[in-house]
Amino acid sequence: MENVIIIGTGCAGYTAAIYTGRANLKPLILSGNMPGGQLTTTTEVENFPGFPNGIMGPELMMNMQTQAEKFGARIEYSLVSSVKKTAAGHFEVHTEGGTVYEARTVIVATGASPKHLGLPNEKGLIGKGLTSCATCDGAFYRNVPVCVVGGGDSACEEAGFLTKFASTVYLIHRRDELRASKIMADRALANPKIKPVWNSTITEYLTDEKGEMRAVTLENLVTGEKSELELKCVFVAIGHVPNGQFLGDLVDTDENGYILQTEGTRTKTEGLFAAGDVADHVYRQAITAAGQGCAAALEAERYLADHGVH
Ligand code: NAP
Repeated sequence: MENVIIIGTGCAGYTAAIYTGRANLKPLILSGNMPGGQLTTTTEVENFPGFPNGIMGPELMMNMQTQAEKFGARIEYSLVSSVKKTAAGHFEVHTEGGTVYEARTVIVATGASPKHLGLPNEKGLIGKGLTSCATCDGAFYRNVPVCVVGGGDSACEEAGFLTKFASTVYLIHRRDELRASKIMADRALANPKIKPVWNSTITEYLTDEKGEMRAVTLENLVTGEKSELELKCVFVAIGHVPNGQFLGDLVDTDENGYILQTEGTRTKTEGLFAAGDVADHVYRQAITAAGQGCAAALEAERYLADHGVH
């Protein structure tokens, strides 16, 4: 019987592990299929306090892992398929590999995964000119045109990064104004290699004879006009879907699937806490996820103390 199982290894999960580890609760972390979470797919993180010169996302996550392990956290590389609460008030955490762990408390810190446009042939195109990770795939597209879809901070950041490789980066946005913060938007629009395509959406991915991305069909949402734009890769940056589906009825969610916290990081199920992007659709920052991970750890610790575990 574990005191605490933490599901997820992003900023929220590792921070929860550092705190519950230091409280001598010997947390068990289940990593998920993307150890280190979203920051492992980014380059430089400029806004995490304590790093005035910035820090690379993967390095920050490695540091958090080392810090969590230093305080006794154990990490298992597995994907959770479901969580159940037993009649005795404990949790059973089931993994895809068939292992069942038991725990007194569970902290869900499973984050969110990138959204796609929902076009018919997109599944087969992933890795063949369709991706949501510029840091992972940008270098494969040197001296060819590519595009980024979206108008938020992610889209601007990815577009800027891609200008190191691509000949042109089209920034395709469904409105005529970016959602991104001013500093990110200004930086993107001032970059001569980034060409904004306003009021437009992609309605079709067009492939070559090898089944790889060749072009997209664009629709201008104001005029209704359709056009074809040749490019080799589409980087989708239109937001994320929270990863909480495996919890079933143990939590309530909003209409977009974000877990509803009742008080602090508590959920409607006693002993089950949610932290970070799986529950937060408002801030979604590394530092706010870390803050929630800390809060969840403190709340789990109090819950355990109230149930006689010290
Ligand atoms: P976001 O802020 O939610 O922006 C998503 C963008 O995609 C919006 O411009 C949205 O258009 C567009 N979009 C959504 N659904 C679409 C669809 N079906 N078709 C076409 N376009 C669609 O998401 P994000 O950029 O991933 O940022 C998420 C959070 O992370 C934010 O809080 C952001 O500040 C943060 N972040 C921060 C940094 C940084 O500070 N360095 C870097 C990256 C991300 P509309 O504008 O029309 O809604």
